[in-house]
Amino acid sequence: MRKLIAGNWKMNGSLAGNEALVKAMLAGLGNAVPAADMALCAPAPYLAQLQALLQGSAIAWGAQDVSGHEQGAYTGEVSVAMLKDFACRYVIVGHSERRQYHGETDVLVAAKAQRALAGGVTPIVCVGETLAEREAGQTEAVVKRQLAAVIHAVAHCTSEIVVAYEPVWAIGTGKTASPEQAQQVHAVLRAQLSAATQHPERVHILYGGSMNAANAASLLAQPDIDGGLIGGASLKAADFLQIVASAS
Ligand code: PEP
Repeated sequence: MRKLIAGNWKMNGSLAGNEALVKAMLAGLGNAVPAADMALCAPAPYLAQLQALLQGSAIAWGAQDVSGHEQGAYTGEVSVAMLKDFACRYVIVGHSERRQYHGETDVLVAAKAQRALAGGVTPIVCVGETLAEREAGQTEAVVKRQLAAVIHAVAHCTSEIVVAYEPVWAIGTGKTASPEQAQQVHAVLRAQLSAATQHPERVHILYGGSMNAANAASLLAQPDIDGGLIGGASLKAADFLQIVASAS
């Protein structure tokens, strides 16, 4: 399977800054076919801008969250139909920052994943343990519980999701899981997917957590690491393109 490298800009960007960043990425790619599928997930107000800049290019785009509701009196929320209006291909759900700062539960994350799929947008479902959970030997149990909630909700559509293993202690900290640590968890997730769908091989399992131009190649060389979800390094064109090149 071709690897997938997705950028998560988080709450960063501006009209001028986004344009310069995206243009630098497109210029860096030139006419070459990238070594991996690529996507950029931007704050919702910039989706129209990404659509205008990226339409017809090798880079897909997406959002960082979606409502679990279809439409209606949910002030501040963004529906999957709205993401579709801007031709989003992906939406991140259950990022640890949303679980941590916005109280998102496994059940809510699962509802968001289900809503995204029903609306024709691929959810990138984030799972991952905190440092305390890792130190307590709970890593497997935590990621399996988080993924199980989504599998339960999306049922026969499980092979259509993307999973991102993002150890919370590695996000934005500069501490990366070693390739062996990451592979171990990815293998657990692959086994869980195998029990839930006839096509586990179709599911990209991305690694996220301080992946950068220097460490990407060794992480992406692991058999069950099918790509990366990139935060900080997706804000620098050269770094992001280097990570994509590492996928070859
Ligand atoms: C993320 O926000 O999903 C992420 C992986 O961030 P960083 O690469 O900055 O650790």
